[in-house]
Amino acid sequence: MQNKIEKIFSERFGGEGNIYASAGRINLIGEHTDYNGGFVFPGAIDKVIMAEIRPNDMEKVRVFSIDIDEYAEFGLKEEDAPSQSWARYIFGICREIQKRGGSVKGFDAVFAGNVPLGAGLSSSAALESCFAFALNDLFNGNSIDKFELAKIGQSTEHNYCGVNCGIMDQFASVFGKEGHLMRLDCRSLEHEYYPFNPEGYRLVLVDSRVKHELKDSPYNKRRESCERVAKRLGIETLRDADMDMLNAIKGDISAEDYFRAKFVIEEKERVLAVCDALVAGDYETVGKKMYETHEGLSKDYEVSCVELDYLNDVAKEMGVTGSRIMGGGFGGCTINLLPNALHDKFVAEVCSRFNEKYGHEPMIYDVVISDGARLVKKA
Ligand code: ADP
Ligand code: MG
Repeated sequence: MQNKIEKIFSERFGGEGNIYASAGRINLIGEHTDYNGGFVFPGAIDKVIMAEIRPNDMEKVRVFSIDIDEYAEFGLKEEDAPSQSWARYIFGICREIQKRGGSVKGFDAVFAGNVPLGAGLSSSAALESCFAFALNDLFNGNSIDKFELAKIGQSTEHNYCGVNCGIMDQFASVFGKEGHLMRLDCRSLEHEYYPFNPEGYRLVLVDSRVKHELKDSPYNKRRESCERVAKRLGIETLRDADMDMLNAIKGDISAEDYFRAKFVIEEKERVLAVCDALVAGDYETVGKKMYETHEGLSKDYEVSCVELDYLNDVAKEMGVTGSRIMGGGFGGCTINLLPNALHDKFVAEVCSRFNEKYGHEPMIYDVVISDGARLVKKA
């Protein structure tokens, strides 16, 4: 990828620029916890967006996307927003830096990536944090701190791409560190690195490639359930609840709200259990907690679907150490922790069995926990 980027950059713009990269992410555990003030457990992966960038002494950005095979040119004022959706991510980063008093001048760029688009690995956060990191280095002497870089990515999604996302994806992409996951407290944004370098195991994502059309905005309904229970308990979010508190009001709330809240409370406890297990290098327990999360998402939170439950069943049957839905649910990926020796057999069998049942093969992504945003090469 880097060779291709360098070749196209020199053909289009002549000479060379600095090369930067940033990564997509996985989330090991901690699902539907972000809006409840809880924990998530992401890490950056070895799938990246990489860009060659050089200031051009103009007041405009000239950028070529290798993967989309399109060129965009735009100015740096609010009214200069480009029409191509991929270019709006880059424009948004420029604008959000400027809005915070940072400097962005014109530049030339060529970029490409291998984070699968729309598969739940957050290619958009990789793109945002790659450019945010680069523009901080090129025009601001790295004076913008990493928290702000993550927020610049998040605000870009909100203000220029119409996606009302949380902070996890950008955070993981900016703060990612090889061999480490991070427990991120969605309330305080405090984060702590935990070693994730499991010898003898690997992580495999199985993308079902289904996305169920949803009626009645189930995401909003889940949030509303959580908010109702928190309010009934007199607390701000379910982060501060435990099962004793929930059981004490069981008779006063709907069964549905009870099970939604139960999942959130148990998920918080699972995240904390996984922290201990990682420190102890106990990946069997990590895996067990992943299965429990899947069960909770499926039965109590009710955000699974037949395809994801099937992937989970196959994993369990084959002796995969841990497997669960990753992401909001109703389609998308499962994340699987499995012994090296099982990898090839699992991949072959899950693909053929899923294909037999649902008429298409899932996509398989092997991932290794890697560094996030970084300078790859100085011109
Ligand atoms: P994801 O879950 O992967 O973040 P999104 O829909 O949020 O999915 O973001 C995908 C969008 O990000 C693409 O439609 C495109 O605009 C941009 N993008 C991601 N990767 C690339 C790439 N390699 N080249 C160009 N644009 C990209
Ligand atoms: Mg995205």
